[in-house]
Amino acid sequence: MKLSNRIQSITGDDSDGWDILYRSRDMIDAGTPVLELTIGEHDKVTDLSIINAMCESARAGNTGYAAVPGQQKLRAAIATRVQSQTGTPTTADNVIVTTGGQAALFAAHLALLDEGDTGLFMDPYYATYPGGIRSIGSKAVPVPTYSEHNFQPQRSSLEPLAKDAKSLLINSPNNPTGAVYSCETLEMICDVCKKNNVVLISDEVYDSQIWEGKHISPRSFDGMAENCFVIGSMSKSHAMTGWRVGWIIGPENAIERILDLSTINTYGVPGFIQDAATFALNQGTTLETEVAEVFRKRVKLAHDILKNEKYIRLIPTQGAMYLMLDIRATGLTGNDFASQLLNAEHIAVMPGESFGASAKGHIRVAMTVPDKDFTQALKRLITFAKTKIG
Ligand code: PLP
Repeated sequence: MKLSNRIQSITGDDSDGWDILYRSRDMIDAGTPVLELTIGEHDKVTDLSIINAMCESARAGNTGYAAVPGQQKLRAAIATRVQSQTGTPTTADNVIVTTGGQAALFAAHLALLDEGDTGLFMDPYYATYPGGIRSIGSKAVPVPTYSEHNFQPQRSSLEPLAKDAKSLLINSPNNPTGAVYSCETLEMICDVCKKNNVVLISDEVYDSQIWEGKHISPRSFDGMAENCFVIGSMSKSHAMTGWRVGWIIGPENAIERILDLSTINTYGVPGFIQDAATFALNQGTTLETEVAEVFRKRVKLAHDILKNEKYIRLIPTQGAMYLMLDIRATGLTGNDFASQLLNAEHIAVMPGESFGASAKGHIRVAMTVPDKDFTQALKRLITFAKTKIG
């Protein structure tokens, strides 16, 4: 079958980074225990009360087609959450419910970019970003950020690229670096966007996981509500990765047009899933705080274990469920470090290279195993790193 250039361009030349994961899964299948610190999947399952809300809704007969933009009560609950977190006036009309943050990212780019346009994104990046932009026939251009700046974006890197771009995708709290963008960084980004007519797409799916500083949504800055899409999701905040509930917040007229895409594509999110998500959001911050506290504790564990290490630098973990470790002092690339660590210690981590050129010589450690295993994995990782020094 002759396939379109577009579908073939999704993977592109980027390393997909999943090699370590596949190898670790093969080892597990062959009976070798592996400590898996690769993907962003909680070790805690969805709270039973949310599962019960879903069952009740389905049993009550809510199994037909649901409202395509999302049920009014869910859109209102999302708007309430956004408004109370950011102080920016938000109504149900500013919200469209999507099948996860993933579909929201795709829809936001499709709404902004035409074929041949340039969509920027910060590097290091969540692995699907460039493929998502390429899939709509646009140019995906990374904006480098640097370990030496703890991966806070710099004007000098962004400004020259913004001149030719239509959109800029940012992610704070950040996967994979753990950076939370400061107010100054966000002001700089918004300023560059305004001056260059670039629309900002702010991926805030980790907004409930803040360990240091505070989460600021750039949509709350002057004039940005009209010039910005915010991507949200139940996946990370409520340990609901498999449920596929996300959303876009944006200007009403843009949301109305994105609805056209949902109509021809997913035709909405199942009603019983939306009811469960509404239930979860109506609990206020109770459930999401429970999910976040597990990671907060592990950030502290990691800090205590790594604070005096000479050869491994922990990039300040300000948010999200990952540690970014600078392992350049070992002389290994992230790929080699991860590969050798898997062979020698049966610990699987993600090589920095799989998140872009800016994360070369780093590894990402997902804090997604129980505390005891997590502690043991970090200690063994340090011992392994020392065997590589002179
Ligand atoms: N954005 C970021 C930065 C992510 O890390 C992820 C998932 O890992 C997503 C978006 C998509 O999440 P979901 O589609 O589960 O909402």
